[in-house]
Amino acid sequence: MNMTRREFLKSAALLAALAPFARLRAQDAPAGDAPEKPRTAGSLTRRTLAGESVSLLGFGCMRLPRGENGKIDRALANRLWSRYVEAGGNYFDTAYMYHDGESEAALGEFLSKRPRSSYFLVDKMPVWMARTEDGVKRVFEEQLERTKAEYFDFYLMHALGRGNWELAQRIRALEFLLEKKKEGRIRHLGFSFHDEPEAMDPILEAYDWELAMIQLNYQDWTRYRSKEQYEKLVAKGIDVAVMEPLRGGALARLNDSAKAVLRQADPDASPASWAFRWVASLPAVKVVNSGMGRESDLEDNLRTFSPLRELDDAERGAIAAALAAFQRTQAVPCTACRYCMPCPVGVSIPEIFALWNAYKAEGNKRRFVSGYGNLPDEARAASCVRCMRCTKHCPQQIAIPDELAKIAAEYDALKAEA
Ligand code: SF4
Ligand code: SF4
Repeated sequence: MNMTRREFLKSAALLAALAPFARLRAQDAPAGDAPEKPRTAGSLTRRTLAGESVSLLGFGCMRLPRGENGKIDRALANRLWSRYVEAGGNYFDTAYMYHDGESEAALGEFLSKRPRSSYFLVDKMPVWMARTEDGVKRVFEEQLERTKAEYFDFYLMHALGRGNWELAQRIRALEFLLEKKKEGRIRHLGFSFHDEPEAMDPILEAYDWELAMIQLNYQDWTRYRSKEQYEKLVAKGIDVAVMEPLRGGALARLNDSAKAVLRQADPDASPASWAFRWVASLPAVKVVNSGMGRESDLEDNLRTFSPLRELDDAERGAIAAALAAFQRTQAVPCTACRYCMPCPVGVSIPEIFALWNAYKAEGNKRRFVSGYGNLPDEARAASCVRCMRCTKHCPQQIAIPDELAKIAAEYDALKAEA
């Protein structure tokens, strides 16, 4: 691996930052949870989540394939889900807001044709959309109807953090969900989380949660303080579900120099497989959700998890070196989650950040200028009126209007050069 001294020192520092992960592997697995073997050769590895045997690869339904009309391409989604089930997959994660409700409906249509005990369905309560006690009831009933599920195997309070937790308390959302648990409409109750680790403390004190979903990947381990969130959950004996293992796809794309580092370590492994193996090697991680919108991505993931091979120390070193190379060019830490959308004036926030990050990674000015130039005027960064609506919803705490202003200025400069 050819690295300058500066690059070596940077990757050594990152390796040190990632080192606690190696220690956590051995010491912090909750008692009585011995690693399970795959059911049969070639099938997906399983782990025990809140007492249930779930496939370690979960199917995240936030970024399903879309047809030309912008709606979910149901034929393709059904093919992907069928293939996942055939490979031993049994964990489906959706939410009220994904695809404006269509994710729940499309998934419900697919799953309702299967025996109810053959899969695990995860759904979530978005308190910021429910807003009132009545709203919580309405959303929950709507979810049951959309998914045709009769009950949810796992149900999470969605995107908790300081603001949403305060609101959840005001509208007595936990009390309502506990009633639903008693009635058998929810089998296991947890939460998903987006905030600083300190904001998790009162949530952990409020209830004996059975699982929690956090943003976890090798870049966010220290950058987003995911390590501290993970450790808090481990200390409480709470099983961990993972979201954003690829950081909105960024760790699958990386940049050329980071990809070269990983190729040198294993010419046949995709960047995505490295990221999945990193996160799945953490012992409290019981399920890793991946949004698989293409057959090629699904097949690559099935290979990675059938069965999962945990990382060794040399492989961890390769990831640290790749991360050092990647962080030199990553511009805006957007995961394309779209929580900031819609913008009231029509700015295409995630699309702009994707174009910008690709330009910073690849250095291809022409592609950036042409891709950005194809956006309608109202969708461009210059249209932002700094109303700050989007920043309140961004789980990555990106200063969106400031980033947009930078991008607008650089686009103007690049166009003037051309
Ligand atoms: S701050 Fe700008 S980008 Fe964000 S919602 Fe307002 S106008 Fe849209
Ligand atoms: S800017 Fe923030 S909220 Fe919007 S898509 Fe990116 S990460 Fe998500």
